[in-house]
Amino acid sequence: MSMWEETKKFIKQTGEKLGLSQGIIERLIEPEMVYEFTIPLKKDDGSLQVFKAWRSQHNSLRGPYKGGIRFHPEVNEDEVKALSALMTIKCAVVNIPFGGGKGGVRVNPKELSERELELLSRAYSAKIAPFIGQDKDIPAPDVNTNPKIMGWMHEEYEKIKGVKEPSAFTGKPVCKGGSKGRVEATGYGGVVVLEKILNLKSQILKLDGSPTIAIQGFGNVGYHFAKFAAERGFKVVGVSDSKGAVYVEDGLDPEATLKCKNEKGTVAGCYCKGSVCDVRFGKTISGEELLELPVDILVPAALEGVINESNMKRIKAKVIIEMANGPVTKQAHDYLTKKGVLIIPGILANAGGVVVSYFEWIQGRQGWRWGKEEVLTKLADVMKKAAKEAWELAIEGRVSLKEAAYLLGVRRLAENLV
Ligand code: GLU
Repeated sequence: MSMWEETKKFIKQTGEKLGLSQGIIERLIEPEMVYEFTIPLKKDDGSLQVFKAWRSQHNSLRGPYKGGIRFHPEVNEDEVKALSALMTIKCAVVNIPFGGGKGGVRVNPKELSERELELLSRAYSAKIAPFIGQDKDIPAPDVNTNPKIMGWMHEEYEKIKGVKEPSAFTGKPVCKGGSKGRVEATGYGGVVVLEKILNLKSQILKLDGSPTIAIQGFGNVGYHFAKFAAERGFKVVGVSDSKGAVYVEDGLDPEATLKCKNEKGTVAGCYCKGSVCDVRFGKTISGEELLELPVDILVPAALEGVINESNMKRIKAKVIIEMANGPVTKQAHDYLTKKGVLIIPGILANAGGVVVSYFEWIQGRQGWRWGKEEVLTKLADVMKKAAKEAWELAIEGRVSLKEAAYLLGVRRLAENLV
């Protein structure tokens, strides 16, 4: 089943549980608008290449559409639709006044030069400029996009519109109107949710001493998750990226690992303890082996569908926290939940990014600048509240935490229709 089919199914089941009519359920499932377009790009060698691109505006019942733009060779219409629906639910779960959107370009950005990447980003922004804006649809970073790219897109948008509109994009560089704390927001928010849920669950699930963690994906989200988790006494024993994985039994140092990864282009071969990296500290494993490590907590922080029918029986973690969007398929969720694995859903766990995007949007509109401490404190409050609400719903309704988060989000959305 594709992620779009699965997402539709989740919303449908939740709607039925809430006693919503089929009409309302359909209203909550189908995107309000999906734009499909092409971007012709003149490459450095003078040739022309055409890329397919999308922007899905899923639902605006609770506010303007909000969600990132990803650059990835596998982006397709159904994926963008599913991701935009997850944004709708996610914004409702953390109770911020946005609907859901998502965009993407089918491209491998690693094959582009810096100049080509800038041209592509600007061209994407120019294509969607007529349909977005701070009161309509506010894009942000996602897989393979970052503050620099948001800066280009935002600049292009303002040029086309002939206005200054600081809140039309979020996740911008801090010097160009971005919010302090936005870069670390998703990872930090995830660790706050993890601690809160473990706390609430402590009577039922005991994790001794410093619980061990394996993280799949060492991009912005995976790295910051590792950093904050290590600072709080968790032991990060494994990390992976698209090119390889490492296992460091005594616990690795996230900062040194990042430095090593930036030098080598991959985490493979980076066995870093303290500030020292040495081959004696760890061993190389495959990305698949990382997912199956006997750790307490598994953190998929890359792409969707990585924990699925093919590997679910070999997963040994007691807790899975979805820092990517949709990394655990529905089938794997149902199987692992039955086995007693606690799955903290992405629509709750990875919402920290969009929450600080919301703070960036407020600051832009008010012409105000908040300090990093203030941002992270406010973020933690929002995340803890949502985690507690979802947890209580799960206990009350005897459902999984993922089902509870859906109940929380879909109920908030449906309130706008009665
Ligand atoms: N791309 C991120 C997500 O999936 C952030 C979206 C945003 O900040 O609008 O939640």
